[in-house]
Amino acid sequence: MDKDYYSILGVSRNATKEEIKRAYRELAKKYHPDLHPENRKEYEEKFKEISEAYEVLMDDEKRRIYDQYGAEGVKFGPQGFDWSNFTHFDDLQDLFNQFFKDMGFGSFFREERDRNIYITMDLDLKDAYFGGEKNVVYERETTCPECKGTGAKDGKTKKCPTCNGTGQVRNVRNMGFMQYVTVQPCPTCNGKGYIIEEKCPRCKGKGRIIIKENIEVKVPKGVENGTRLRVRGKGTGNDGDLIILVRIREDSRFRREGDDLYTEVSIPFTKAALGTEIPLEHISGERLNVKISPGTQPGEMIKIRGKGMPRLNSHGYGDLFVRINVTIPKNLTQRQRELLMQLDNEPERKGFFHNRFM
Ligand SMILES: [Zn+2]
Ligand SMILES: [Zn+2]
Repeated sequence: MDKDYYSILGVSRNATKEEIKRAYRELAKKYHPDLHPENRKEYEEKFKEISEAYEVLMDDEKRRIYDQYGAEGVKFGPQGFDWSNFTHFDDLQDLFNQFFKDMGFGSFFREERDRNIYITMDLDLKDAYFGGEKNVVYERETTCPECKGTGAKDGKTKKCPTCNGTGQVRNVRNMGFMQYVTVQPCPTCNGKGYIIEEKCPRCKGKGRIIIKENIEVKVPKGVENGTRLRVRGKGTGNDGDLIILVRIREDSRFRREGDDLYTEVSIPFTKAALGTEIPLEHISGERLNVKISPGTQPGEMIKIRGKGMPRLNSHGYGDLFVRINVTIPKNLTQRQRELLMQLDNEPERKGFFHNRFM
């Protein structure tokens, strides 16, 4: 039974060294035993097999012998190929360094994200105007105070005999010149360094409990819809954060646009013509007097400086815009009708019921 090094690497019999190298690197990525912890042995064998083929086909002399006499002709020692025969570790080093970097970074990222807790906070526009402390209640997992997170009754633990209290076991694997030292959490104590003889009754040995957290969160004046507030250390465990997404409910009277506020008031057409002052309750609760000048047109916008929302990232306030709706009576009493007709018949063409085209 002869090994077909070419088909092991999936290359043709006249493949160039470049092609062989590319094929080998591809397979090395696929067969790396660290990626297949569930059947590591099998992949270690596969990895060894492609490495043997690579060793032979990259060496002109060995390849010539192999082409002529088959695998029997290539002598690697009494036990056949082993890692001490492999001379191309340099071709793998960069590949695997990158591997570990990718894997390490990936898991780090996952953890960071999982430890934050995301909640939403619904506020009225008035709350956003004033800001201040808001009460937030939510659930989070935290260290069990009873056992200080050890999971042991009364906090009594015993040093783990497997890792001697370090929580880690070193695993050294040799692949020829390459030595992989991996430090893994101790399987006996799950990386804690101690073992529990009697479980903590409060957390049932988990070391963590779910608590109802009740905190005051400082909401900045002028907070905007979609603002994220971060409370450090209030996520899962003691290192995650609480992230609060602020949502601002629509107000029935005021509409916000950036730092400005918009509202509407309705006045009778006579007041629009004569001018007046109307009371307006501001979002803050303050009573404003809006001055309507004589001859105000329907839809006209009155700007009141500094009566908008507080600016979130700077000092001062936006402006308030009041849109004037002019109401025209639908049903007139006899008297009103007479007065209006009288007004309409005024010879003075400068009257406000006429324009120059009438
Ligand atoms: Zn241990
Ligand atoms: Zn506990």
